[in-house]
Amino acid sequence: MSRGATARLFVAVDPPAEVCEELAAWARVAATGLGLRAGRGGRPPLRLLAPDTLHLTLCFLGSRPVAEIETIAGALSSCATRVDELRVGAPLWLPPRRPRALAVEVHDDGGGLATLHAEVSRAIAAASDWEPERRRFAAHVTLARLGAGFRWRSRAEEPELRATPQLRFTPNAVVLYRSWLSRAGASYEPLLTSELQAPGR
Ligand code: ATP
Ligand code: MG
Repeated sequence: MSRGATARLFVAVDPPAEVCEELAAWARVAATGLGLRAGRGGRPPLRLLAPDTLHLTLCFLGSRPVAEIETIAGALSSCATRVDELRVGAPLWLPPRRPRALAVEVHDDGGGLATLHAEVSRAIAAASDWEPERRRFAAHVTLARLGAGFRWRSRAEEPELRATPQLRFTPNAVVLYRSWLSRAGASYEPLLTSELQAPGR
């Protein structure tokens, strides 16, 4: 591997497989009801993500030196804030006007996810020269991607989305992922899984 090699990294919480299956099924039905026109070259405007790739991003680290991965993994393994049950909320277009993604919001009623986000950000920033994002953490799970340049021509064009299923889950681990970008869509390689404190402890 060359000396200047970098890796695209992020830290995420993985909802359980059955929650991912239900979210993906919701997105499939929602997508068929949208009536979006095909994009350039007849490509579908919306690319649904496979259930086993769905995740909730806690911190996006971007491109980091490969040599730093071990340090970042070490910092993450010190993070264990307990997170209580999370609730799937309303669908979201992100960002709203020129959306690139269809997501669902995730409610963190106990506040543990926000605390975990702050803990992971602090630990990784202290161990490396990564600078945490300044924007507010907004928990969501992305279910589909829209082509570049897509935009609603008017507010009226923005479709109503059907209600999301009422799903709940309790995270028990955080995962450091390496993201491999390709034309077919990113694939995510888990590098380290760090267990969280069990609920009720
Ligand atoms: P693609 O970019 O090909 O559509 P992707 O967005 O899934 O694929 P990455 O760009 O590597 O792949 O992102 C990995 C994860 O980090 C995704 O959950 C993505 O939404 C999130 N992410 C990417 N960029 C940022 C960012 N600037 N801020 C916050 N989260 C980000
Ligand atoms: Mg991306």
